[in-house]
Amino acid sequence: MVLLLFVDLDPDLAALRPLGGFFVLRTPGAAPRPLATLARTYGQPSPDAYGDPLTRRVQKVAHALRAPEARIAASVAQQGLAARLWSVTLGCAALYGRVPDLDPRLLQWDPDGSAPDDLWLAEVRPLPADPATVADVVLRAHLEPLTAALRARYHVAAGLLWGNAGSALAGAARQLDGWARANGRTDLAARARSLTAGLLSHPLLAGTGTLTATAFRRRSCCLYYRVPGGGVCGDCCFTRPPRSSPRATSG
Ligand code: SF4
Repeated sequence: MVLLLFVDLDPDLAALRPLGGFFVLRTPGAAPRPLATLARTYGQPSPDAYGDPLTRRVQKVAHALRAPEARIAASVAQQGLAARLWSVTLGCAALYGRVPDLDPRLLQWDPDGSAPDDLWLAEVRPLPADPATVADVVLRAHLEPLTAALRARYHVAAGLLWGNAGSALAGAARQLDGWARANGRTDLAARARSLTAGLLSHPLLAGTGTLTATAFRRRSCCLYYRVPGGGVCGDCCFTRPPRSSPRATSG
């Protein structure tokens, strides 16, 4: 029998640190310089000091990858942010048995930053770590408005973005599983696996791919193959880049 001990979230989420920077959230407090919240980022750009963080990030990714189309960079940027949000919540769920409320109004984001200095949470409010609550925290509060913003601005297919969301979740779970097994914490691995399976059956993620143990096979193409030097990732729906496949652009 596995005995699961739930502990309350500590104010700086220190237990996440051994998992690596991708799982870490800066908290409590504000970033060292003024940054837009993610609520502000997902909304319409407005002429204030923050400018347009979402466009800024997509442009930054496009430049770094030499992406030939903005929607490719939009896809990669969305997958990156989704992976960060899933990593934090899965890590907390496994280690604490609770997740922090990632209300986008409390979460500041640096479009020029990388993990862990890209996300700053103003205060830690613990929530239960069941699939329905975690879905509300990540899917409803973040990935739905992010998907809507990217679809409106870059005409990225919804199926592609939800496929990215499923892939990012499976990737975070795989990382966590590897760390848990390497550290003799099979209880954590089991908790993360169960939560991941529950989340992948959520209506927004159901059908995005197939999870077998920790291996995920997605059903939509993320467009990364169109980047110069890009290819197929481990959870790709193809075995080689679909240079001439019509599925590649269908999302
Ligand atoms: S071929 Fe696979 S890895 Fe490459 S862009 Fe498509 S889904 Fe992504």
